[in-house]
Amino acid sequence: MIQIPRGTQDILPKDTYKWQYIENRLHSIAQNYNYKEIRTPVFESTELFVRGVGGSTDIVNKEMYTFKDKGDRSMTLKPEGTAPVVRSYIENKMQHDVNQPVKVYYQAPMFRYERRQKGRYRQFVQFGIEAIGVEDPLIDVEVLSMLMHIYQSFGLRNLKLHINSIGDQHSRAAYNQALVDHFRPSIHEFCSDCQVRIDTNPMRILDCKKDRDHPLVQNAPVIYDYLNDESKAYFEEVKQNLDALGIPYEVDYNLVRGLDYYTHTAFELMSDAEGFGAITTLCGGGRYNGLLELLDGPSETGIGFALSIERLLLALEAEGIELPEPEGIDLYICTLDQSASTAAGRLVHKLRTEGVSCDMDYKHRKLKAQMKDADRKGAAHTIVIGETELASGEAELKNMATGESEKISLENIAEIRTIIEEK
Ligand code: ATP
Ligand code: MG
Repeated sequence: MIQIPRGTQDILPKDTYKWQYIENRLHSIAQNYNYKEIRTPVFESTELFVRGVGGSTDIVNKEMYTFKDKGDRSMTLKPEGTAPVVRSYIENKMQHDVNQPVKVYYQAPMFRYERRQKGRYRQFVQFGIEAIGVEDPLIDVEVLSMLMHIYQSFGLRNLKLHINSIGDQHSRAAYNQALVDHFRPSIHEFCSDCQVRIDTNPMRILDCKKDRDHPLVQNAPVIYDYLNDESKAYFEEVKQNLDALGIPYEVDYNLVRGLDYYTHTAFELMSDAEGFGAITTLCGGGRYNGLLELLDGPSETGIGFALSIERLLLALEAEGIELPEPEGIDLYICTLDQSASTAAGRLVHKLRTEGVSCDMDYKHRKLKAQMKDADRKGAAHTIVIGETELASGEAELKNMATGESEKISLENIAEIRTIIEEK
């Protein structure tokens, strides 16, 4: 038997309503904040991620699904959404769009070759937004408030927003040097990844999962002390505006994004719900002021976040929040013999084209089994058709909630629809 690839999942028909519910909510919240959807290809040139995500990241080093196409080009299934959006922005010269800043969102499967773990899949769906073309603490706050709005709209309570500022490029050069001086003498005590990071990307040592309890990580220099005045002022303004909106947050000086093009605001949203498990990060994001230029684009700046629907579902589960199940069908038609089935087939066809959701029995079950089937399908109404109904052209339309019946003409689709819609 052929099995599903490791780290992927089938979303079965009994569960898809949850995904649709969440996706609809995300589309509508994005609409509130005036973000428009952008759809980019599932695969891109590998180089886009090597440059845009960075050669020193786990994503690029270990996690990409990379393949050669038949033209011998190296392609990669997208592991994240920001680089593709920025590529598209540059290629479509969106810096000249009349609508500025350019505010977009995406919702798409992402692919990462990762170790299987709860909340970690090899194919997962990310929803993310990007606001490109403006550098202002207020847009950072807009992005953060939208993020919180999304999670709170589902009734989630155990949310912890961590924020930090990693300053501008100047602040960071000094900070990186301080980290190198701090870690260099004892770097042999760290994991092999960190031994490379000290030369390629010292800030990443701070978010190493293996070395997070090392005393030198605990008492590492704090980025805030290295921020220049502009960077501090920017951060203060972000915090003041979050306060003004009543959005609670914690400043976490160890929250870093190690890539050169990240600047200023960095954030993560975690769940502190009991029973969530080892992975508690729901969403991550930050400001990237150097990314567009790095990808040969204009010197515009951007900010965004990405969350996965899989982890949102885990958070809902951990807090015991259930999403509303969809309503059943409007009508189920039971049939007593073959000619009734034939008539029912025509009737459901007409009703469906008129917008009534309906179904019938195709398995020639006994009436009682058909009634059970109607119940399972959540039918709000039923009609039974047999010899008598065929002869008279009339039948009883039963409202399953009230138990009341009404005589209807099988030819009069408009009448059936009206009665169904009334209830
Ligand atoms: P982690 O530290 O958990 O590996 P990350 O830094 O790789 O996260 P990002 O690249 O910032 O994560 O992705 C943004 C969000 O996408 C994460 O906060 C998480 O909700 C989700 N995510 C990342 N990887 C996976 C995965 N393999 N399966 C499901 N969701 C994921
Ligand atoms: Mg990861």
